Amino acid sequence: MTIIDGKRISAEVKQELKEEVDKIRENGGKIPHLAAVLIGDNGASETYVASKIKSCEQIGFKSSLIRRGSETTEAEVLEIIDSLNKDEDVDGFIVQLPLPDHINVDKVIEAIDPKKDVDGFHPINVGRMAKGLPAYISATPFGVLELLKRYKIETAGKHCVVVGRSQIVGLPMSLLMARNDYPGNCTVTLTHSRTANLKEICQQADILVAALGRPEFIKADMVKEGAVVIDVGITRVKDETKKSGFAIKGDVAFEEVAPKTSFITPVPGGVGLMTVAALMYNTLLASKKAIYS
Ligand code: NDP
Repeated sequence: MTIIDGKRISAEVKQELKEEVDKIRENGGKIPHLAAVLIGDNGASETYVASKIKSCEQIGFKSSLIRRGSETTEAEVLEIIDSLNKDEDVDGFIVQLPLPDHINVDKVIEAIDPKKDVDGFHPINVGRMAKGLPAYISATPFGVLELLKRYKIETAGKHCVVVGRSQIVGLPMSLLMARNDYPGNCTVTLTHSRTANLKEICQQADILVAALGRPEFIKADMVKEGAVVIDVGITRVKDETKKSGFAIKGDVAFEEVAPKTSFITPVPGGVGLMTVAALMYNTLLASKKAIYS
């Protein structure tokens, strides 16, 4: 059994990006610039945005944070997006989700210029990705693909079961694993909360991607001997023994599942770090105008 080291791989990806940025700087080129919009005071979102900004600093990207309170109106968010779309110095930007309930998330995402949508959430990018055209691939599934690649995990002809059908993780993950490319060429089953016989379906998975947001939901008796298990889940659960008062749990009961697997990602230290690295990669693509000219 191999524990997939997201920390090592994400550091590798970031180092490669840093080397490219150093070259751009030496040649007097434009330094990639990522902006992040953070609305409200969700603790987890603050942590995610802080780690994105920190990664920009490590790599040598320029970053900006546009921060507003939870009372911000939808119209105000749309105005911020409009100004970022027009700002020629900003190569790509993200609007950190979730947004406060009074803001329509689809409207906000559709307002982002697809050329700057480095999260890959805009319908144009999702549609282009589904068609196999060049597109920004949303960061979490992109990060998972990179882990599979760098560990040279065979995917062709395998049965991949994805648990969770969200727009940002499960659905794009299922499309990517089914595409005619490496890593992909899987036979994919996309499951969700209304799936009948979920346990039996999971037991058939050669590659199991858990992205449902239910801590330690996937138990050992749901996993086939020798399966590859990718745990996307990140849930904060109360833990008095921690200084922060909470612990981070994945969707997989790691201790009991790991011995049955060939490869498994831990939480923390797995997919989460790759998500940030993938976002940085998309930002470099945006600054190089590699997807859209
Ligand atoms: P959503 O809540 O948007 O989607 C959850 C999905 O899981 C839904 O499709 C839901 O089904 C399904 N689901 C819920 N309960 C069950 C169940 N009991 N059995 C089967 N399916 C179920 O979550 P996200 O996709 O945004 O996130 C999933 C997890 O991944 C979360 O823990 C989140 O924090 C984490 N995450 C991690 C990231 C990373 O960087 N590692 C990035 C993004 C998310 P239905 O559609 O029927 O409701």
